[in-house]
Amino acid sequence: MKSNLVVPSALCSFIRGQFIAPADQHTLPVIDPSTEQALSLLYEADAKEVDLAVKAARDSFESGVWSRQSTDKRQAVLLRVRDLIRQHAQELAGLECLNTGIPYQQLKNLHIPGAAFQFQYHSEAASQLKGELHQQRSGYQIQVSREPVGVAALISPWNGPINLSCTKLAAALAYGNSCVLKPSEFTPLAFKKLMEILNEAGIPDGVVNLVNGRGSITGAALAEHPEVDLVSFTGGCTSGKVVNAIAAQGMKRTTMELGGKSANIILDSADLDVALDGALAAIFMTNGQQCLAGSRILVQKSIAKDFIDKFVARTRALRIGDPFDPNTELGPLANQTHMNKVLGYVKVARDEGATLHCGGGRASGFERGFYIDPIVVSTSSNDMKICQEEVFGPFATFIEFDTLEEAITIANDSTFGLISYLWSNDLAAVTTAIREIRVGTIWVNTTLVGDPRAPFGGVKGSGTGREGGVGSVEFYTELKSVVIPTGGPAPVPKLGIPH
Ligand code: NAD
Repeated sequence: MKSNLVVPSALCSFIRGQFIAPADQHTLPVIDPSTEQALSLLYEADAKEVDLAVKAARDSFESGVWSRQSTDKRQAVLLRVRDLIRQHAQELAGLECLNTGIPYQQLKNLHIPGAAFQFQYHSEAASQLKGELHQQRSGYQIQVSREPVGVAALISPWNGPINLSCTKLAAALAYGNSCVLKPSEFTPLAFKKLMEILNEAGIPDGVVNLVNGRGSITGAALAEHPEVDLVSFTGGCTSGKVVNAIAAQGMKRTTMELGGKSANIILDSADLDVALDGALAAIFMTNGQQCLAGSRILVQKSIAKDFIDKFVARTRALRIGDPFDPNTELGPLANQTHMNKVLGYVKVARDEGATLHCGGGRASGFERGFYIDPIVVSTSSNDMKICQEEVFGPFATFIEFDTLEEAITIANDSTFGLISYLWSNDLAAVTTAIREIRVGTIWVNTTLVGDPRAPFGGVKGSGTGREGGVGSVEFYTELKSVVIPTGGPAPVPKLGIPH
């Protein structure tokens, strides 16, 4: 697979249906985290180039070529995008694997099919969009309709580049918006192919534009551009706050899909074998680099020792290796800075008095690549940094509790509120927990089941707004109210007529 991939040597902006030729710009190497070798060169879009991309989106929007296209025609194009993503799934998964280090199997079986399904779901949802007609008021009818918002700035992170970007793109396009997409500067590799797919499917020129570069340069220029109407941002809390403030200055609507420190609650009433599988997947899939990672594992004292022993044994047995190897379960971390950050939390854990069960260093047997041994620690206090800060790596922290109430208190004692997991077959406990836990999504006796019908997003520091299902309808459409008299000319106040 790896040897068949055609890797683009230069990564440039895509504007009005064309890739911009590399010019005298700032460049950044695009790195393969499994070899630490440069794969390609990113040509960063500066504010001028971002302006060209936004203007292309604005022109296409105003022209109506997509925004006023019939929903049926838009749906046909978006279903072709779905089909082409499926057709090119191996190539997309391969490029993404090269650049992210996420195991190829996970990309091929989960991320890329998920991206394709976004185009199916949102185009079908848009085809069912309805307005309202109110006839209660005598002499008038009042209609409420939904229209596309305009130019959407879509800013995405490095931990699921194609999947997370397609979530935004599919919804924005389905409701008739034009877009400028800015992927993470660390993981731009597969986007050239994605642009080619969108083009081939029949998305008109200028409706989807791509700019590459760092957040502080390219991302900031995009978020603050006056012709951008909305900003859909997925990333860390620190940059999310900056982007939210910039967008607010320009009165732009936003969704902020930010970090998490999710509690994974395991009660003694759970099916413990399934809970064990679920807890491992929740923290170690995508190399542990997931906003929705079940990173705080809260386990009831009566079952804790046995559960933790089994969890540690399975963690030690995780197959670390080349992300293209079909047997690999844990690939390299995304980049060197990030690897150092994750490993730095081992010292933090030790200094805080946590017990280290396993992992914590570079994995042996690799001359190159950002491979580490997955980490499991136990702690008695949820106040510690390793329970409060997002590590964003293969780092599981156990906390024991006695009662459900205690578990709920610990789960809520966080500045984040993205996801919570709950494992129990006690219906009363389940219904109490789902009522009391303050998060955007709760997974009960299951793990990592994202569905585009289910609005996704967080509370507290995990962000604002929702995308998916009704969340996407609200975000990517603008309401318009129209009042029309029904029985001839309506009485209108007459001003300025002398008595
Ligand atoms: P990041 O915030 O560093 O970057 C995300 C994107 O924002 C990148 O494209 C980056 O270039 C851009 N950016 C950064 N600063 C910017 C600025 N000032 N203006 C405009 N754009 C800017 O995040 P990351 O390290 O790429 O991703 C990891 C983070 O993303 C984690 O915190 C993770 O939890 C979060 N995440 C959240 C979700 C979710 O749905 N809630 C999903 C995946 C990842």
